[in-house]
Amino acid sequence: MLSVLAIPAFNDNYLWLIHDGEHAAVVDPGDAAPVLAALETHSLSLVAILLTHHHADHVGGVQSLLRRFNVQVFGPRNEPIAGVTQALEEGDIADLPELGLSLSVLDVPGHTRGHIAYFAPQQRWLFCGDTLFAGGCGRLFEGTPAQMAHSLAKLAALPDPTEIYCAHEYTLANLRFAHEVEPDNAALTARIRVEQAKRERGEPTIPSTIGLEKSTNPFLRYREPAIRQRLIAEGRMATGQEAIVGFAALREWKNTYR
Ligand code: ZN
Ligand code: FE
Repeated sequence: MLSVLAIPAFNDNYLWLIHDGEHAAVVDPGDAAPVLAALETHSLSLVAILLTHHHADHVGGVQSLLRRFNVQVFGPRNEPIAGVTQALEEGDIADLPELGLSLSVLDVPGHTRGHIAYFAPQQRWLFCGDTLFAGGCGRLFEGTPAQMAHSLAKLAALPDPTEIYCAHEYTLANLRFAHEVEPDNAALTARIRVEQAKRERGEPTIPSTIGLEKSTNPFLRYREPAIRQRLIAEGRMATGQEAIVGFAALREWKNTYR
């Protein structure tokens, strides 16, 4: 029986530990110390490291973990990351025999050029780094709006119950922006109450699900007439412009939204 454990790190990162009570794989270990502490606490031995992209808050702990554990390091083929032993791209499988787990790899460029995501089809778990967030999406550091929109559409096509293990607790800020964009979305208003209550209890809002994101995340909903109307009213796009213009306008707006 596999489960996923959240390891909080830095201000708002989650490092994910997939384990069976004995073996563990860690996703995006930006820092080694909290991973080592969690392995110790739960008496787990590390069998693999999975990386989604090259940013320091996702890979910073790899070298110290490798000094303690001689394990495979899975990572994106199109990004140079020290320590990667298995360079992956869409269509590849990350095989973790100790855990009896096979993850399929999706190319999801946009936040970075070579960003990948890992999907466990049986468990319906998605590890998507800084691509799809609960209520939002990653900033476009190396990719275009069209690339990010295409990557998000790929993730949105996964089954609705798929659990989304993204890398940051940005949910409340994302949903505040979502509400600005789509104030009449009842599912969104209901979600804001639920997620606020989780934070007040000190709980993570992650995992989210694909179904929940499709009903509340503006970056998956930019084709909705209500969102287009809002962007037009704000002077951020014009009537009749292509959907991708709306997506780009949303991302721009979010960048400066406080
Ligand atoms: Zn990042
Ligand atoms: Fe990050």
